[in-house]
Order: sequence, then structure tokens, then C-alpha cells
Amino acid sequence: MAQINIPQPVRGTQSLLGDEAERFHAVVSAFERVRRLFGFRRVEVPVLEPTAVFARSLGETTDVVSKEMYSFEDRGGDSITLRPEFTAGIARAFLSEGWQQYAPLKVATHGPAFRYERPQKGRFRQFHQLDAEILGAAEPQADVEVLLFADQLLKELGIGDGAVLKLNTLGDPETRGRWRDALYEHFRAAAADLSEESRDRLERNPLRILDSKAHVDWPVVDAAPPIDDFLTPEAADFFAAVTAGLDAAGVTWERAPRLVRGLDYYRHTAFEFMTDRLGAQGTVLAGGRYDGLIEALGGPHTPAIGWAAGIERLSMMIDAPAPEKPAAVLVPMGAAGEAAAVRLLADLRRAGIAADMAFRGNMKKRMARAAAAGAAYAVILGDAEVESGTAQVKDLATGEQRAVALDLIDTAVTA
Ligand code: ATP
Ligand code: MG
Repeated sequence: MAQINIPQPVRGTQSLLGDEAERFHAVVSAFERVRRLFGFRRVEVPVLEPTAVFARSLGETTDVVSKEMYSFEDRGGDSITLRPEFTAGIARAFLSEGWQQYAPLKVATHGPAFRYERPQKGRFRQFHQLDAEILGAAEPQADVEVLLFADQLLKELGIGDGAVLKLNTLGDPETRGRWRDALYEHFRAAAADLSEESRDRLERNPLRILDSKAHVDWPVVDAAPPIDDFLTPEAADFFAAVTAGLDAAGVTWERAPRLVRGLDYYRHTAFEFMTDRLGAQGTVLAGGRYDGLIEALGGPHTPAIGWAAGIERLSMMIDAPAPEKPAAVLVPMGAAGEAAAVRLLADLRRAGIAADMAFRGNMKKRMARAAAAGAAYAVILGDAEVESGTAQVKDLATGEQRAVALDLIDTAVTA
């Protein structure tokens, strides 16, 4: 077939079939199961938001806002952005849709997100996230709750051992301010050894340098003062309550004293589940407390916490579930057989029995199709059988075959 001039996919997007698609959906179904178990309400939020939603909540100086957003002017002249993440849009909905009345509100969702990044293993331009948030809760129990949700999800996916929970606190605003000043001094003194990007961040947000992906920065980052030297007693107590909750629930975690989140709005708890199985893209799930975000959007002070996980990255860490096999494949031959097969197929499916029909080729080809589908039984409907109100039910494992009345096929193929 000529392949010239057929449309190609947009760079950094994927079209999935087979195992990859199965693994993707296994991640989503596990998420939905655990979401219900934990009592997080499902929400749906738009892919499109006014650009200001992300610019104001993530901060103009973040990588996401300054260089990764898909923003465009729509036909009415409004600046629109394809969501690069869920939190800002959920916070927007919390304010504009009256969700504040339900606080503390536990919500979760999943879907596509878009970032203009250099595509590589585990990094796409259209990727997909799972997302969980608790809005309107200042208590450390909320931090523990979202972390337990994340932990149980990873365990149910069978990657609990492959991912380590790295935990830090960014303290309260006072702590964060003092730490920021100390980091500024530290990085300014070592500015000559920093990457250009980090030198650039020095004046705008020195905390970001801790998050640098440039290897040259790492020795300077490792020598940076840890936040513990600056924690106020309140911030220290808060963190102690979170870690005590995790310990009580039997969740293992590691302290990562220099872990920060890329976005401006984080306070107190910050965390990442890291793996060494995915090469450079080691973070599978990340989040933290964002007490300043809803105010940045113009709402009242609303403490909140949440996380997001990359579905593609999680998918890469699990085995594909066994494909679903039909109980029966119908093999009609002749006009009367085909008509009977359509009716029987509909009856079986309405009764909740997975069934399919082989409708192409000669008898041998159709039987081969039934076997290839992994069906337990082939149900052969020739004109003669149908005439007598029966079909031949063949057990594909043993090769045994017997005539069964058409209205008893359902029990025959589920025996
Ligand atoms: P990274 O450091 O890998 O760029 P990030 O800090 O930008 O991640 P977050 O904004 O915390 O990522 O998003 C949460 C999760 O979403 C990440 O841990 C990752 O699993 C996933 N993710 C983020 N960006 C991408 C992408 N471009 N492609 C695939 N997954 C992504
Ligand atoms: Mg990123």
C-alpha cells in the first residue's frame, strides 16, 4: 500500500494498541478502584482553561509556564491553554463552580495533559495523569490520606517495591522565607559553578536550583543548607504529624531534605515516588501541599494537598493483564445459520456472556479464528442444525462436540 503523504502523528503523542493500551487501562482501573475505596469523588474538568489559570497559579517563572505550555488565541481572541496539569483547573473549578461548600473535598480524576517538552522515554507532549486532591483541609491527616492513596495504588499495581517515597517539608511561609534567603546566599557564593539556567533562577527563585536537572549543579546542590536548620516549631510539628501517620499505617518513606517541587505554591509536605526502573524519568508520582494556590487565583485562603502521577510511566512498570477471552465464538455457515447466529450472539451478550462471531472465510478459517480468540467453545450453526433448533457446541480444549438446543447454549458455554 502506498504510504506516501499519509498524515503523521504530532511529535510526542502516542496511539496505543494491544499490550500498551491494556497496561494503560490497567493503571486507570486500579486508580478508579482505589479512588472509590478511599472515598475520593470523581470529577471532570476541562482540557481547556484560560491561560491565566496556569500563569497565576503555577507562577510565571516556572518551567511549565515559561516554556512548556500549549497556549493559543482562540477565534474570539481569548488566550487559552491546554492543561499542563490538573491542580490549577480543579482549584479554578473549586472557586467558580461553588465546590467550596463541600470542603473538605476529596476529589480525583484522570486524563490527558500537554507540555511542550523534548520527547523521550517516559516523556511526551501529550501525556496522561492520574490526579488526587483534598481541598479545604489544613490538617496533616489530609497529607497522610493522599499519601496512603498513592501508596496503596502503587502496591495494587505491583510496583510498591519498585518505587520509593521520598518525603520533605517546605515548611510554613516563615520557614520557607528563611530557607530561601540561606539558599540564595549559598548559591550566589557558588554562582560560578552553576549552570546558566540555575544562575538565571538565582534571583527569581533559588529554591528551583535544588530541582535542577543539570549535572554540573549537583555538587553545589548537595552542599546546600537543608531546610531543617530553619524549620519553625509549628512547621516541624506539622511534619512530625505527617510522618507519624505514615509510620502508623506502615508506609515506608525516606527523608529527602533537598526535595522541592517545581511549582511556586507548595508549602509543608512535598513528596515524590521515585523509581530507578525508568532511566532518567524517575518520578512516577509527585505532589504536595499547596496552601497558597487558591489565594493566588483570587479565592479565599484554602489549604489543600494533592498529587499527580504519569500514567505512561506507571504503565511502563507493570505487566499487561491477560487479554479477555470470549466464552464462545459463533461459527455460522449458510444464510439461516448466520441469521440464527446474530440472534444467539445478541442473547448471549445480553446475558453477560462474552461472545463473538467468526464471519469471514470457509469453515476451517472460521474455526481457526475461534481458536485464535482463545474461546472456550465454538458454536457451529449450519443451516441443517438451525433447521432442527440446535447448534454443535465444540469444546476447543478437548475437541469434544455435541448438539445443544439453541435456548440452552448459554448454559453449555458457561459450564
Ligand atoms: P519531571 O521532573 O519528570 O519533568 P515534573 O516535576 O515536571 O516531572 P509534575 O509536574 O510533578 O512533573 O507531574 C506529575 C507527574 O506527571 C510526573 O511525576 C510524571 O510521572 C508525569 N509527567 C510530567 N511530565 C510528563 C511528560 N512530559 N510526559 C510523561 N509524563 C509526565
Ligand atoms: Mg517537567
